[in-house]
Amino acid sequence: MAHRKKNTPSKVQSCSRNDPVEAPVVKGPNMDSLGFLAMDSNVPGLSQVILQKLNMKSYDEYRSAMEGKKLHADFGIHSYFEMFQKMEDTFRFCVECKKLPESLPNPKSLRRCKRCQNVYYCGSECQRANWPIHKKFCKKLKLVALDRLMEWLVFTGDIPFPTTPWKKNIHEVRGWEGWFLMQDDLDAKLSSILTGRYMNILWANAGKPKPEEVELTESIKRVTTDFESRPATIGLGLHMFQIDPYAKPIVVHVVGASHVETLNARVTDYDELSHMFPKHQGIEVVMVGIDVVDNPIMRPPLVAFGPRERVYLSSYKGLYHDFWESQVETQLASRPELVVGFHPGFHACSDLMESWLPTLLLLRDYKIPSLFTVYSEQELKYSLKISMELEMRITGCGANPFASLKPEQAYSNPNKSPVYCNSHYFTFCGLSDSPDEPDVGELEGDKSEDA
Ligand SMILES: [Zn+2]
Ligand SMILES: [Zn+2]
Repeated sequence: MAHRKKNTPSKVQSCSRNDPVEAPVVKGPNMDSLGFLAMDSNVPGLSQVILQKLNMKSYDEYRSAMEGKKLHADFGIHSYFEMFQKMEDTFRFCVECKKLPESLPNPKSLRRCKRCQNVYYCGSECQRANWPIHKKFCKKLKLVALDRLMEWLVFTGDIPFPTTPWKKNIHEVRGWEGWFLMQDDLDAKLSSILTGRYMNILWANAGKPKPEEVELTESIKRVTTDFESRPATIGLGLHMFQIDPYAKPIVVHVVGASHVETLNARVTDYDELSHMFPKHQGIEVVMVGIDVVDNPIMRPPLVAFGPRERVYLSSYKGLYHDFWESQVETQLASRPELVVGFHPGFHACSDLMESWLPTLLLLRDYKIPSLFTVYSEQELKYSLKISMELEMRITGCGANPFASLKPEQAYSNPNKSPVYCNSHYFTFCGLSDSPDEPDVGELEGDKSEDA
């Protein structure tokens, strides 16, 4: 095999051994340094708290439920009201002392902040103690609380609304503002969601007052960007590497695809890519990851190109380097023009990095144009640092114009700046020639986290 094995940089190796995050800490949601659960639990809407509330023992159980192997009935959810209550239960813990309702003498004493409708306190003492910090985030957390309810409309099929072919080239569109401007009949589409059946069901059962129409409209837009961010980011990657979908059929591999990614793909079939490049020669997106959802996008074989002007989705359940060895090297799957990784989460600095290492070295040594996204600028810096230690040639990085606009909070500590899916990106291709590492700067808070 041509794939060259390089020595693992010591930093990466030591990472998984002495990871301070892995150490047993106070009982409660287990968070990594950015406040997000790492690896397979790094999924918005999923935490130990949620699993506990949904009476599910493990992530596997959750996943098989998401894959449709079990129906909602198994969760004991009998009504919309109950469903929204269960969803909200996830957030029912005192943000100050971190107590869950069952550890309080009276579980009902847990009360919600009136302004954001998002965080809870076991009493006014905790609320008062928390206010100096909470007041900085209360406004943003109000949007978080609204969006996570509205996200339900993705599952009902209201969001995303039917989008229209791009009338401009990606470099002219620049971001979501330009994207919304291109949408035909936008007002009519938004208002049909606003007045739809499920919007009514939502607010009749949410247990929260229904916000103003303008707030709901903005929320629909944010949730839409969250949804379209992945295909748009793939398009951005094609554009950045000057890969021309009009010249030939294109193969894109999504590495480390989570079940959320595959579920999202299932809803739209990534059709937005066809809208970005109207009349393209055919784009095949292969989701590769251990978390790939089984059906219905598992469509072997991976050699036949999809029809022109269509996005052809397929998937492979397994690690990328195994996929490469068993499928690409044996020519059962085509080599990719582009590889994309959404939130690989190197920053979590645990076994996660170890599982990514073979993939990163493979991408580097085969000089595959690659684009990875991260949740924040801090995570970007960290990922760049690792990439440079691996001598990968960084070809670009920065804020993603197609980042999700939907804020995500850290569950155990909502009083932090929210993060955004695909917020930043970096691209790399091949091995760096120069031994000199460009200075990416120190990580904020690096020291205190290692202490
Ligand atoms: Zn408390
Ligand atoms: Zn608040």
